[in-house]
Amino acid sequence: MRNQLYIDGKWVQPLKGGKLDVINPATEEVFHSVAAATADDIDNAVASARRAFDVGGWPRLSGAERARYLRAIAEEIRSRLAELARLEVLDNGKPLPEAEWDIGDAAGCFEFYAGLAEQLDNSFEEAIELPDARFSSKVVKEPVGVAGAIIPWNYPLLMAAWKVAPALAAGCTMVLKPSELTPLTALELGAIVDAAGLPPGVLNIVTGLGKDAGQALADHPRVDKIAFTGSVQTGSKVMAAAARDIKRVSLELGGKSPFLVFEDADIKQAVEWIMFGIFWNQGQVCSATSRVLVHKDIYEPLMARLVAETEKIVIGDGLKTGTLLGPLVSERQYDQVCRAVSAAREVGATVSYGGGRPDGFAKGYFVQPTILTDVPVDSAAWTEEIFGPVVCIRAFSTEEEAVGHANDSRFGLAAAVMSKDDARAERVAAALRAGIVWINCSQPTFTEAPWGGYKQSGIGRELGRWGLENYLETKQVTKYVTDQPWGWYIKEGVF
Ligand code: NAD
Repeated sequence: MRNQLYIDGKWVQPLKGGKLDVINPATEEVFHSVAAATADDIDNAVASARRAFDVGGWPRLSGAERARYLRAIAEEIRSRLAELARLEVLDNGKPLPEAEWDIGDAAGCFEFYAGLAEQLDNSFEEAIELPDARFSSKVVKEPVGVAGAIIPWNYPLLMAAWKVAPALAAGCTMVLKPSELTPLTALELGAIVDAAGLPPGVLNIVTGLGKDAGQALADHPRVDKIAFTGSVQTGSKVMAAAARDIKRVSLELGGKSPFLVFEDADIKQAVEWIMFGIFWNQGQVCSATSRVLVHKDIYEPLMARLVAETEKIVIGDGLKTGTLLGPLVSERQYDQVCRAVSAAREVGATVSYGGGRPDGFAKGYFVQPTILTDVPVDSAAWTEEIFGPVVCIRAFSTEEEAVGHANDSRFGLAAAVMSKDDARAERVAAALRAGIVWINCSQPTFTEAPWGGYKQSGIGRELGRWGLENYLETKQVTKYVTDQPWGWYIKEGVF
């Protein structure tokens, strides 16, 4: 396990010597410490990324050449999948099979953007038809420059991959600031890019607190673009900081995603997708379908099945075989989720299942999978992100009512609808104000498809070709192609 900063292709100590504890959320034990970077370290990292961009060759390599590095990174991640997944569990708490899935996805993300980098060589230049034959014009895509990436703790390596892979594919250089809660696999990414032979400075990895390292990166005048994933509150600060220098900014923020289950849905399948939508990763998923609206005709049998299946979820240390629900990431997150459930109780919500610490766990930030009903629609439990394994369920009578509830939110990241009537499912999908809509499922995420939210859930899209656009500028090159004088100030034959 590494504990230094990766700057300019070297492992270095933080200039002020600060350290951050790394805690295993299943045992509450401090098992490691990493460097706590401050503004001076960020300065060095940005200077290195600047050199790699301005005078190093990275943006001037062909897409195919950059793709070779990305493929080598993907291969290295795959070859270390088991070890990286284990580190992710120790750091974040998630069950090992989930972590293995994430690491495989991270490798897949680098492979995908390697493919797009190769295509860039052919698509970089596009001719524009002009209405004036004296001119020709083309559009060129160029990398934005030095990008700063600030990421959260819920998918530590995968969130890094979603930003690093497209940035590098586009020809940008980057400074990555992982979450202080889960720095381990991001630091391994330093070793991985090193093994892949990435030139110094193309990717710098700086661990530290948000208020120190994160803020310094968002504030830095020599950073051209900030890509941020995290809470709305921090996203707003990052955007305000970026505004000072008109930095490009993309934000992936929170959500309170609805899941609409109609009366013709298969109850067993609906229950499984509801569970996957809120208990996967302990519900610490920005797109978690945390508000479920069920048609009144199937509400009772669906609830009975949901409670019965939820009871069977095996809670435990993510490294233990068979665990389906691990601990929350931190004591703060644990307290936040417990407080949200208490507040829901106080305003009259019924805890239909769970609601507290599971029996038999003296240590660890474990919370039972929790089902809340009778949740007032104006209460925080219904409107605010809980970011834990807590789902609010409510019955509805009409499609109009369900869509109305679904859209009555300041968020608009994701939504899901379940119905055997395809026309209805498509109609509801069109009416939902969200950047991602799942039909007859919830959560499956593909690197090829755009990811991001409406309203306060963010700005811009990651993944797919849209994720690459985040790191590209558009330049027009317009040429005067005739020998004819322009003739505005200087008239033909007049001296
Ligand atoms: P957070 O906002 O507290 O932290 C995110 C990152 O920002 C961390 O690296 C943190 O160190 C850094 N940070 C904190 N203060 C900062 C500041 N002043 N300036 C710059 N950086 C700062 O969020 P979190 O608790 O790590 O993550 C949970 C949140 O992230 C949830 O709200 C969730 O919905 C959201 N999230 C969204 C997506 C998405 O794709 N939309 C994905 C994952 C998580």
